[in-house]
Amino acid sequence: MKEMTGPFRINLQETFERLRRRRRHSPIVSIRENVAMSFEFFPPKDEAAERRLDRTLDALGRLEPAFVSVTYGAGGSARDRSARVVSHVASRFARPVAAHLTCASASRDEVDAALDGFIEAGVRRFVALRGDLPAGAERAAIERGGYRRSHELVAAIRRRGDFEVNVGTYPEKHPDSVDIRQDIDALLAKQDAGATRAITQFFFDTDCFLRFRDQAVAAGVRIPIVPGVLPIHNFGGTRRFADGCGAVIPAWMDELFAGLDEAPEVRDMVATTVATEQCARLIEHGVEHIHFYTLNRFELTTAICDILGLGPRRGVGDISRVDGLKRA
Ligand SMILES: Cc1cc2nc3c(=O)[nH]c(=O)nc-3n(C[C@H](O)[C@H](O)[C@H](O)COP(=O)(O)OP(=O)(O)OC[C@H]3O[C@@H](n4cnc5c(N)ncnc54)[C@H](O)[C@@H]3O)c2cc1C
Repeated sequence: MKEMTGPFRINLQETFERLRRRRRHSPIVSIRENVAMSFEFFPPKDEAAERRLDRTLDALGRLEPAFVSVTYGAGGSARDRSARVVSHVASRFARPVAAHLTCASASRDEVDAALDGFIEAGVRRFVALRGDLPAGAERAAIERGGYRRSHELVAAIRRRGDFEVNVGTYPEKHPDSVDIRQDIDALLAKQDAGATRAITQFFFDTDCFLRFRDQAVAAGVRIPIVPGVLPIHNFGGTRRFADGCGAVIPAWMDELFAGLDEAPEVRDMVATTVATEQCARLIEHGVEHIHFYTLNRFELTTAICDILGLGPRRGVGDISRVDGLKRA
């Protein structure tokens, strides 16, 4: 590894060594021990994206998450890709892998075939979802006798065995819901059908999550409600994504990130700080598991976990050994 030159001459090797020597229990933020993590990935679309996913798997593997999950796309080729990526991640990553599975816009036979394929391939964990509905899809599903809502899919998975079944939930209200009570009723239906854990849509208003969790528990939800945290890799993209799924971007974030997509290094630092503070606050309020929407990138998720002291090994010294990262 080379030394940087110029006025800010830094010996990177020394920096990595110093960070690696940092005592195991000396995170910058003081938190409880034993907070679990899970990481979500999506199937890469081309070879460059495949290589990036592999680097991400190598880097995040060192954090020893409770499990990782792979999203599921609508449409035949996307579905095949999801199945291939689940197998690939399982072979490369020595942690349990959960396969996402959606049931809207497919017949019951197609969903059952995909589910049985995963089980035959050895998958024992699922994230069961309805999927986003193209116009008229629910009616079409009813006409074809398909699974209309995710609790029906949860029941189908549990009929096949004692599998772990995660489900989605929406602290800021799903766009299809009339009110938050309807989301809690939907979550209760998933719990009754055998769901073992709920993972939330991403949110930035932490108070909103805490209120939702209180309401859900008061209504009888007993399964863990795991907050989904999205580190911001691109603010414009995050805004579009949030608009589509009903997540609220608070005004303070608009101000904080204004113009930063033009300055990615600054944006990454700000994004790391925002997500770290959010996680620290969640942990202070008793959260024992955080699900990270990684967007197949490791940099921010690793930095957040390192600062919080999550995972057994910390320090960029480990990350520096990931292929393609050495600056020498
Ligand atoms: C953790 C997580 C992972 C995800 N992964 C994927 C993925 O891999 N692939 C993908 O395509 N999408 C994924 N999504 C998005 C998800 O598919 C969409 O949000 C979808 O619109 C809802 O799915 P669901 O399983 O939560 O639906 P449901 O819980 O069945 O319904 C969503 C909400 O709509 C309301 N609702 C819907 N229909 C009715 C009705 N008939 N009567 C009353 N209320 C109703 C309920 O309040 C409910 O909370 C994910 C979401 C989350 C939170």
